[in-house]
Amino acid sequence: MAQATYEERAARHPNACAKQLLNAIVEKQSNLCVSVDVTRKEDLLEIVDTVGPFVALVKTHVDIVEDFDWDLIEQLSALSIKHKFLIFEDRKFADIGNTVSLQYSSGVHRIAHWSHLTNAHLIPGPGIIAGLAAVGTPLQRGLLLLAEMSTKGSLTTGAYTTANVQAAMEDDSDFVMGFIAMHRVHEDPAHIPPGATDAQKAKDLLVLTPGVGLDVQGDGKGQQYRTPHQVVHDSGSDMIIVGRGIYSAMLSKGIERDEALAQVRTQAQRYRDAGWQAYLARLGTQPRRRSSRLGAPATPTRLAHTHTKRERASPPAQPADETHVEIDTGAGPSDSPVKKIKMELTEDEKRKVKVPKHWREAYALMVQQRDEIVTPVDTMGCEENGREDRRADRGRRGVDGQHESEEDAAKRLRFTTLISLMLSSQTKDPVTADAVYRLQTRLDNGLCLASLLATPDDVIQECIAKVGFFRRKTEYVRRVAEILRDRFDGDVPRTVDELCSLPGVGPKMAFLQMQSMGLNVGIGVDTHVHRISNRLGWCRTKTPEQTRLALQSWLPTELHGVINKQMVGFGQVICVPVGPRCDLCYVGKARRCPSYKKVDEKSRAKRVPIYYKDGTVDAGYGRVPVAKQEAIDAAEAEASEEPKQEPLDW
Ligand code: SF4
Repeated sequence: MAQATYEERAARHPNACAKQLLNAIVEKQSNLCVSVDVTRKEDLLEIVDTVGPFVALVKTHVDIVEDFDWDLIEQLSALSIKHKFLIFEDRKFADIGNTVSLQYSSGVHRIAHWSHLTNAHLIPGPGIIAGLAAVGTPLQRGLLLLAEMSTKGSLTTGAYTTANVQAAMEDDSDFVMGFIAMHRVHEDPAHIPPGATDAQKAKDLLVLTPGVGLDVQGDGKGQQYRTPHQVVHDSGSDMIIVGRGIYSAMLSKGIERDEALAQVRTQAQRYRDAGWQAYLARLGTQPRRRSSRLGAPATPTRLAHTHTKRERASPPAQPADETHVEIDTGAGPSDSPVKKIKMELTEDEKRKVKVPKHWREAYALMVQQRDEIVTPVDTMGCEENGREDRRADRGRRGVDGQHESEEDAAKRLRFTTLISLMLSSQTKDPVTADAVYRLQTRLDNGLCLASLLATPDDVIQECIAKVGFFRRKTEYVRRVAEILRDRFDGDVPRTVDELCSLPGVGPKMAFLQMQSMGLNVGIGVDTHVHRISNRLGWCRTKTPEQTRLALQSWLPTELHGVINKQMVGFGQVICVPVGPRCDLCYVGKARRCPSYKKVDEKSRAKRVPIYYKDGTVDAGYGRVPVAKQEAIDAAEAEASEEPKQEPLDW
């Protein structure tokens, strides 16, 4: 089962809660559960809101919250909906059946009412499962058994672990959805009960593992830590549970709250990436696997059609005056090796900017439509090119010939993203993706700094020959590699100014690179973000840099890291530079775009159809299954080729 994908398991899992959890993992590409063990409601909610975008599950101990009230539960549930994660109250029930029924359903906390899953010790015997299932099953909840624990000297070993496996396998209600354990106990011959049937052995039981740390091995109080790779890749766990490793900054007295929250966000992203990469490594995923997740009905050829027109930044059709402000980007001629980039507007400039009305509604509609459509950036964007599942690197060994360490793999990812960004200017995503793929397969040790430095220019040129300005980019790429080696210790620098000092790297690339490294210091504004922001009336600006500064002045920080990808996908398919599909645009239909234009019948027929992830396509006349549209297209093509009937000669 460890080799099955989360998608495959979600599709067939009998427990509704497990299915929901697996779907959340797939959708968020995160097998991270954050354990938030703090004693103040405000801290708990703030941490959860911060880590929410990066997790599929949040684990709580509400009984340690000193100011617990029902408002906490309501706010926590609202965050669970906002960020699409499930809640796991780590209650560790351990009493007889009747008592745990009451503890689960009643009392101050009424856990069953809001916590998607909970857990229990099997100390009282299988009756505890029946007692909890009586409450949880009608509510479609799930239960984890504590088969193993991560603390030193734990008694949850040997026969006790086996008893947990047996109880889970024999649970006919399917209320037990898995274990808290250190490895796949139910697939371990040492713990499979002798009388287990094949059906029982084939049960899909999830394994969630605590005691995960990237930087430490123990806490001095008995907790022992392993890395995400050890837990997910080596031991086959389905989720990593991480606590203080993510939010320790919030417990430190000397750190400002904003700075602490920024660190929490960075750590959550870091653990999410590590957990997900370990999962992909376990699967041995091939580079193009992600496209199947989308269920993409469109062929590459059809997708490529969305890019056949020359992209030009369009001026705003109906700009909203209240957002117009003359912005000085601070850019100017400079001979300094480190460029100074203006990071934000001055207080004076900020005062002149007005937050556009209804932007939240427009943004929500755009996100909704983005979630439904197939876009090139989702599978071929620069950040995707360096990801484990898109890497085609041969060998992947460190300089010493040994398997690449986590640190080297992370360096390679950062470097690949930077090279992808550099190649992507004036180039379509599929072409960039193809060039990166060639570099990953042609270079001796895949695409990494050492390999690139050792590769002659003509080989690099052959690999990137289809990207725009490939000769100049070959020069830039080589110089950047040399600079990283000589000035940045072989790694990608971590400030916008340093990134912009690299040849061929501008602010857009720098901010996107920073975002990809978990450093949210600004928005990556490209032609799509610039064009759409102006069309929506969110700003009235002449250059992408002005747009960035304007947006950053009012758009909530948590959206700075995601808005680029949202708008790029939207701009590739719906709000395209020439001939935007206002007729299909959710924002336009809701009258939240001042640039909405009616699409006339003639041009509608010529425009590129929109493909949806559910296997339908809209060519401007409503959504139909792709096969049906292809039949219509074929019939129309055939009809247009029919020879004209000769007039009868009377
Ligand atoms: S209505 Fe038209 S111009 Fe406005 S966002 Fe939608 S597609 Fe773009």
